[in-house]
Amino acid sequence: MMIVMREDATPEEVERILERLDNAGAKGHVSTGDVVTVIGVSGERDVIAGLPLEAYPGVDKVLPILRPYKLVSREFRNTPTIITVGGTSLGGGHIGLIAGPCSVESREQLLEAAHAAKAAGATMLRGGAFKPRTSPYAFQGLGVEGLEILAEAREATGLPVVTELMDPRHLDDVVKYSDVIQIGARNMQNFQLLSAVGEVDRPIVLKRGLAATIDELLMAAEYIVKEGNDKVILCERGIRTFETATRNTLDISAIPIIKQRSHLPVIVDPSHAAGKADLVEPLSLAALAAGADGLMIEMHPTPETALSDGAQSLDPAQFTRVAARLQAMIAWMGTTLG
Ligand code: PEP
Ligand code: MN
Repeated sequence: MMIVMREDATPEEVERILERLDNAGAKGHVSTGDVVTVIGVSGERDVIAGLPLEAYPGVDKVLPILRPYKLVSREFRNTPTIITVGGTSLGGGHIGLIAGPCSVESREQLLEAAHAAKAAGATMLRGGAFKPRTSPYAFQGLGVEGLEILAEAREATGLPVVTELMDPRHLDDVVKYSDVIQIGARNMQNFQLLSAVGEVDRPIVLKRGLAATIDELLMAAEYIVKEGNDKVILCERGIRTFETATRNTLDISAIPIIKQRSHLPVIVDPSHAAGKADLVEPLSLAALAAGADGLMIEMHPTPETALSDGAQSLDPAQFTRVAARLQAMIAWMGTTLG
């Protein structure tokens, strides 16, 4: 449910309601708009229904939110969420361009990728230190050593760093060394992990599960926002279908549908969707045309030697060409890079 305050409601009146909710074991999430303040309420349905909230001073009306997700819905907040990290923004007309290798493999490899990403105009650097590999015998990532290398690349380039968290036990290390936490497709419904990252003040890239519906993705985001962290970036990265020509099928329609249903920004990962480097450019352009707030693209100094996802990785020269075309598209659409 959602409490819409009167235009002349005072901060004390908002505070009183938050206290009342807290005493009843429910939680209020405040969204301050230009005109009115709205309080989203989460907690036990019966407890909330029993509270006489309409009687409180400053309250205009109390409305139900009909969707299964509340705080991430357009009903709760109708203005796009803009996420700013390290001086760059994503959402609300700011396009993010996140690039870097699938995995951090060595200091030399990552620094070369980071400098190439920066030179081509990327706004953030990606690189996995903890890797979710289908085979237990495949390269699993460098772990904390990989995080240290990412932090060094951030120092060298000024690019904020995005890296995946797979296990809540690594949360402190990931928070210490990186700027944005990625929750991978395979963990989209790892609810304990979602709640854990909901408690930190860091932007989260939440990737759509391999066979998850759009509403399931939004409910996964709700788990994070419910804990207090509303800096969630949704990521469409392709879903499993009967088609075998690509690794996954990029669901372009997810972009405008998510935008209709949620205020959260949505980015596209064309690399994991396609599984092939030569499809990255057309899928990236299509994603921007459909309204994506950003792209996450795998780029490796030498894709042929990559320890993971080489076939879908661009080399620096290819990435530079693609980034230039994307920048032309971004300008043509009247949006800005970062
Ligand atoms: C990745 O970004 O390297 C990754 C493993 O992605 P996904 O979780 O989408 O498969
Ligand atoms: Mn990858």
